[in-house]
Amino acid sequence: MYIYILIFIFGTVFASFIHLYATRLSKGESIITPRSHCPKCNHPLAWYELIPIFSYIFQHGRCKKCDAKIGIDSLVTEILTGILFVIVYISYGQSYRTILGFVLVLIMMSIFITDFKEMIILDSTLLVGGALICLVVFLDKGLWDGLYKSLLYGVFAFILMFLVKVLGDAAFKRESLGGGDIKFAFLMGAVLPYNLFLIALVVASMSALPYALYTSLSKGSHELPFGPFLAIGLFTTFLFESNIAEILNILVS
Ligand SMILES: [Zn+2]
Repeated sequence: MYIYILIFIFGTVFASFIHLYATRLSKGESIITPRSHCPKCNHPLAWYELIPIFSYIFQHGRCKKCDAKIGIDSLVTEILTGILFVIVYISYGQSYRTILGFVLVLIMMSIFITDFKEMIILDSTLLVGGALICLVVFLDKGLWDGLYKSLLYGVFAFILMFLVKVLGDAAFKRESLGGGDIKFAFLMGAVLPYNLFLIALVVASMSALPYALYTSLSKGSHELPFGPFLAIGLFTTFLFESNIAEILNILVS
């Protein structure tokens, strides 16, 4: 039981950093200066106001100084990351796949924040995330069975996604997929074998559908961030990889 609590806390600490990094960089701010502060009165936060989850609870979601409401998104990011870290650990135990899962959760959180808020996926998320994925795959499965295959599948996914974009742009006469989505496809391919990459795309599209209906009905907008849904597709397919592969085997044979 203690290990789950520890992993939950571990997740919230990382999430706290990811939240700061994603909100600041997507607005073009520095992640080092200024120190974390209240967005309304600029009162710099003391260390105990930075503890994930607890600081929010003890301050009742308000700034100590000016009583401004603190956004709930950092709290949601922290709790969600903690829970997903525990789920990954329950699924894959003490293994490289668990570390890979943690990396995927953090990439997903960063994309949630930047794509939903600013409609972008940060290049630094893709670069650092991609490098970490390659490193873990290499440590787990070595050069030929691991890294080489990952890069190959990554390129396959990237090219496929690019073709989808070209066709989509022509069909809808507007930008169908953003550059960030296509680059993110490389990361998806690096994690998943090509058949599971296709499954992840299906999951992404299906999970995006309710949101797309909601935005077009409520805001009349057709602009939809697809990155978060690609990330959901990647993560769920990664989590249920063996089950999905089993089902695919039964269908094929
Ligand atoms: Zn304040």
